[in-house]
Amino acid sequence: MIVKHIQVGQIGTNCYLFGDETAKVCAVVDPGDQAHQIAKMVNDSGLNLQYILVTHGHFDHVLAVPELLEFYPNAQVYIHRSEVNERKLPNNYMQMPLVPNLHYYEEGDTLPLGSLTIEVMHTPGHSLGSVVLRVEDVLFSGDTLFQGACGRTDFAGGSYSEMLHSLKRLHDLPGNFQVYPGHEGFTTLEQERKRNNYMLEAVNSLR
Ligand SMILES: [Zn+2]
Repeated sequence: MIVKHIQVGQIGTNCYLFGDETAKVCAVVDPGDQAHQIAKMVNDSGLNLQYILVTHGHFDHVLAVPELLEFYPNAQVYIHRSEVNERKLPNNYMQMPLVPNLHYYEEGDTLPLGSLTIEVMHTPGHSLGSVVLRVEDVLFSGDTLFQGACGRTDFAGGSYSEMLHSLKRLHDLPGNFQVYPGHEGFTTLEQERKRNNYMLEAVNSLR
C-alpha cells in the first residue's frame, strides 16, 4: 500500500491518498480544500481514484468533495449518515452537503480497494458520525485521535464520554498501527497508548 499526504485549507487539514499500486486504484481521505492540489496528488500517483472517504462532515474535511467529483465523476463518496446535511439546512458548515455518488458507511462495513480492505470503525465523540478507517496496519483517525491529543468535543454532536469510549476502542485494537490523523503530525498507536493523556484517561476510567 502506498500513502501520500498534503495539507490543505485554512486549518491545515491532512488530506491523504492511499492505494494499491498493483491494481492501480486509490482512495482520497478528507479532501478539505484545494481540489486542484489533491487532483495533482492523484494524477502524480498514476492511480485511478475509486473512493473519496470522509472521516466526518466538518467543512475543513469536505470542502473539496464537490470539485473533486467534477474531476473524477466515477469516484464514489463514503461518509457516515449523521455527517450529511440531508435536510439542506442553510449555513451548515458542520455537515457535508449532498453530493453525487454518495454512499453511507457505518461500524463494521468494509470496502475493497484492489487487494486492500478498508474497515470502518464508528468512533463518535468529535461528532456523531466520526469514523476511523483501518487499512492493513494503518489508521486514518480523522479528528478522533491526534498525536498526544484528541478532537474537540464541544461542537454540535460532540461528547467527551463518547470520545473516551472511542479512544478506548482504538487503544484495545491488537498490535501496532501507523496513525494518520486529520490534523497535525503522524504518530503510532503504540506511542499514543503510552503518552496520550486522553487515551490513558479512557483506559483508566473504562476498565
Ligand atoms: Zn472536525
